[in-house]
Amino acid sequence: MPAELQSADLQRSVHYDVVVVGAGPAGISAAINIANRKRTVLVLDSQSPFSKAGKAPAVPNYPGFTYATGEQLGEAFLEHLDRFEVPLVLEKASKIMADDDGFLVFTDREMYRAKVVILATGVHRLTDLEGEDALVGRGVSYCANCDGRLFGGREVAYIAYSPDGEEEASVLAEELGVTVNYLPLYVEEPSLPESVKVLPRERPDRLYSRDGKVAVELKSGPLLVDGVFVHKPSVAPGDLVEGIRVEDGHVTVDRHMATGLPGVFAAGDATGEPYQIAKAVGEGQVAALQALRYLRERARAPASEEPPVPAAAAS
Ligand SMILES: Cc1cc2nc3c(=O)[nH]c(=O)nc-3n(C[C@H](O)[C@H](O)[C@H](O)COP(=O)(O)OP(=O)(O)OC[C@H]3O[C@@H](n4cnc5c(N)ncnc54)[C@H](O)[C@@H]3O)c2cc1C
Repeated sequence: MPAELQSADLQRSVHYDVVVVGAGPAGISAAINIANRKRTVLVLDSQSPFSKAGKAPAVPNYPGFTYATGEQLGEAFLEHLDRFEVPLVLEKASKIMADDDGFLVFTDREMYRAKVVILATGVHRLTDLEGEDALVGRGVSYCANCDGRLFGGREVAYIAYSPDGEEEASVLAEELGVTVNYLPLYVEEPSLPESVKVLPRERPDRLYSRDGKVAVELKSGPLLVDGVFVHKPSVAPGDLVEGIRVEDGHVTVDRHMATGLPGVFAAGDATGEPYQIAKAVGEGQVAALQALRYLRERARAPASEEPPVPAAAAS
């Protein structure tokens, strides 16, 4: 298995050729194909790599691995990634923005630079809570690490869709002096310090502003707090990359896995059905090969010219 790196282990000055968001079958396939051509590539994953396919009790239809368990298949994929010395960082990409020389990829902890981005984020199933979107930046935050300090000595609600939220909530309470009401929206029993108040599991009806506070509407009545942190394991593609086309929750791509935004490609479940490992792996490879072509054409283009969109080119 590859060493999962802490971001601090990486040279942040590196301008990666490609950042791949998502370490499922699609992202791993894309990264291997990029590394195979000696380009620099970084993989980000918000949870453990291969977490979805790794749950399969048996995979009957992935060629060459008759009835391997998802876990066995995941080990083989990660071993391959490791052999190619691809760095894998467990951080969630929260925003990707174009800059003069490619992209800035912001995670919940760091910022990375890339010339190309490949989105291999799987299916995004979570819908926002009612009122959530309107309050972003006005009391609702997705990054305790970025905004937690603002709430020292104040009270917040922390809404978590997975146990990964427990660490951030603990840091808010124990290190930043925030009073935390923790609302777990998952089945596992939360394991938190005593200073964190755990609320009964319940999806709030809505969030709204009231008397300078944010109200979290619960069955028991509104919980009034100074801020709300929402911890999601994934980010809707439209929120991740501004201007990307999304239809029915899937990123729109052409047959070259190009999204229409120069330098942004997508692969796997993120682009639509069938939700299958072999399809994800194939699309990851197509995205990588087109990304490599894009990098070549970008290097040839005069500085003043927009790099061409390889989608327009025949493969
Ligand atoms: C129980 C089960 C059994 C299955 N059995 C089979 C089978 O037998 N055969 C088959 O072909 N398929 C099977 N599947 C489907 C298969 O697992 C998926 O089609 C496949 O995993 C899709 O790969 P992907 O790389 O596109 O997405 P995923 O595997 O979903 O990987 C996406 C990754 O992106 C990460 N991510 C998301 N957002 C962000 C972000 N903002 N920043 C950083 N990382 C992010 C996620 O944490 C995740 O690890 C099964 C699925 C399940 C759940």
